[in-house]
Amino acid sequence: MRITALAGGIGGARFLKGVLAARPNDAVTVIGNTGDDIWIHGLRVCPDLDTVMYTLGGGISIERGWGREGETFTVKEELAEYGVEPTWFGLGDKDIATHLVRTQSMQAGFPLSDITAALCERWKPGVRLIPMTDDRAETNVIVDDPSGALDDAGRPLQIAIHFQEWWIKYRAQIPARGFVLVGVDQARPAPGVIEAIEQADIVLLPPSNPVVSIGTILQVPGVADALRSTTAPVVGVSPIVGGAPVRGMADACLTAIGVETTALAVAAHYGARLPRSASAGGNESTEIGGGFIDGWLVDESDSASVAAIEALGIRCRAVPLLMSDLDATKAMVSEAMSLAGMP
Ligand code: GDP
Ligand code: CA
Repeated sequence: MRITALAGGIGGARFLKGVLAARPNDAVTVIGNTGDDIWIHGLRVCPDLDTVMYTLGGGISIERGWGREGETFTVKEELAEYGVEPTWFGLGDKDIATHLVRTQSMQAGFPLSDITAALCERWKPGVRLIPMTDDRAETNVIVDDPSGALDDAGRPLQIAIHFQEWWIKYRAQIPARGFVLVGVDQARPAPGVIEAIEQADIVLLPPSNPVVSIGTILQVPGVADALRSTTAPVVGVSPIVGGAPVRGMADACLTAIGVETTALAVAAHYGARLPRSASAGGNESTEIGGGFIDGWLVDESDSASVAAIEALGIRCRAVPLLMSDLDATKAMVSEAMSLAGMP
């Protein structure tokens, strides 16, 4: 079977470990979020792609969930001694080797998708990992200027900062007024992205951040349409359990786009796919975030919302959704497959 998944970093990578464990004979393609990518000290860093690659390839720091196991931070400390900004981004010594290879290859003219495939030759993640795009599509966050500056009308001046600055430096503690994916209008899906959705037997949305991981991938031109029109069922797993993210700050992101932090609200935000006969009429919504899931798993603690989700036209089941260990994650994957009517 051909399984295609859209993935952010930690939540996506953990779920994918379960996919590989539960479906050892299936071909898995992962479309990775690159909205978080950033230049740090002249190096191109792709946090979500690397989290997937290291997690599935056995190199991840289990404790931190990002970066390499047995990591040291000598280069970071040395840079701090020079007083060079930014000091808030965790660049480990081993990790830097990955970014050096990537940056050199980019400077030699290779697209990120080819470079990612080359890096994966070392890590052998067991999936085909494709960045959502080879082009620039960078998540920026609109915030009130942290310096307290005011605009001409005396209101807080709004500025755009890189997602990583908001997420890591400010720990998402300054309110996000909105998100802008800079460059996405001109971005094209990386080679293989659309085909992976169109030719899949099932498309899975892991419990990745609905705004800045899945939401970002959905904005790449063509991706949302491919999800709406694929013959494969599309099944998602809620990252929100009992009204809160399991880990991270997805609530701050959801609030910024006006979506409640509940499993039901995220399902409604993704929206039910139209039945194929109806969508063939050409009258479908083109609004991002609307209309591309057939099934949605919520945690057993959210079983009270199952009926409301089904009323949206989305198949729903309440099952344990905590990826506490590989067996628990495998069971989630099996539930997602079975919700789609897959063997
Ligand atoms: P990031 O890019 O590293 O932030 O990772 P993702 O976007 O892939 O995943 C982040 C999301 O994973 C967060 O919104 C969490 O709520 C969700 N998450 C993390 N662990 C779990 C878990 O055990 N179960 C569920 N259901 N969601 C989880
Ligand atoms: Ca991320």
